[in-house]
Amino acid sequence: MKSEARVTDTTQIEARSVGKKFGKFNALRDVSLQVANGEFLSLLGPSGSGKTTFLTLLGGYENATSGKLFLDGQDMTGWTAKQRGFGMVFQGYALFPHLTVAENIAFPLKVQKRSKSDIKDRVARMVEMVGLSGHEGKRPRALSGGQQQRVALARALAYEPEVLLLDEPFSALDKNLRGQMQEELRRLHRDLGTTFVFVTHDQEEALALSTRIAIFNHGELQQVGTPDTVYERPANRFTAEFLGDINILSVDDSSRGIAGTPLELPVNAASFEHVAIRPEHMRLADAGDAIQLPATVRDRVYLGSKSRLLLETRAGEELMLYFDNGGALQAPEPGADIRVTWETGDSFAL
Ligand code: ATP
Repeated sequence: MKSEARVTDTTQIEARSVGKKFGKFNALRDVSLQVANGEFLSLLGPSGSGKTTFLTLLGGYENATSGKLFLDGQDMTGWTAKQRGFGMVFQGYALFPHLTVAENIAFPLKVQKRSKSDIKDRVARMVEMVGLSGHEGKRPRALSGGQQQRVALARALAYEPEVLLLDEPFSALDKNLRGQMQEELRRLHRDLGTTFVFVTHDQEEALALSTRIAIFNHGELQQVGTPDTVYERPANRFTAEFLGDINILSVDDSSRGIAGTPLELPVNAASFEHVAIRPEHMRLADAGDAIQLPATVRDRVYLGSKSRLLLETRAGEELMLYFDNGGALQAPEPGADIRVTWETGDSFAL
């Protein structure tokens, strides 16, 4: 596992070697990471990778089997959810069906025994913040999915928690609404400065929203980093493949080139076995390009602004390249022998 340098003075939450077993099953293994004050950290991974388990441990809804959790330097491992006081937005909206929008938002404030005028002010502010003015008196079933999710967000933010935990809050929404809600969440995060920890299995959602992303697979943390770091410099093959299309080429044993073509490799004299290049960094070679890897076009898929070319190297490995249909050149036909190139700096060792 690779993680970024320790987040130091602004660290708010820290997990140290946290593990969770359900019976004999290891749902989480040895997870260590820090969340800085005001971060938007996404927990990203395939279904069953342990994201929700980690979120429930952070919130205090489950107890870790091993390891420790800290909040502002204090050991919070044994604290209840209430003692931690984090806000939580679930996958389903979990609104009270018999209460109005305003009553739903007011509910946690009433539990906290805030004064009537404080509650009234906060509810009004929250309703406005999430764009639900005019809907205060409606019950949840009279609202669209997006509106219900806004109520859930407003309810979780009403008492100004230091940390908001969100578990796939937009999974039930259609694509357009999802995009709108993502924009809104970004705005809320920017305006409030609250720390957000956000579970998603959607790579694009994580890349678009997060200050950093923690990638999980089979209960293990694979990498933590900014969106561009995890996308452009993935720590391992799982992360590279999970975050998007990727070309992975075997390095020749003897010559340290690829498929019999000597090349400048990304890390000098390192003993790695594969070179990886994202398709958007690969293009057809011009005469003057230093890297010229021969390949044959196996298939061409027209996608409007671009065509996706599927290529095969002389070593029989597949490659994917996006060809810009807006340029002066025609995309090569299937069967054509071509040469591809990329900047050494855009490739990385795996
Ligand atoms: P998804 O995106 O599907 O929600 P996830 O990454 O959030 O997946 P978790 O819900 O954390 O995954 O589950 C991780 C693993 O732990 C899964 O194999 C799941 O079946 C198992 N698991 C989770 N909760 C329990 C439980 N209470 N008892 C037994 N096994 C559990």
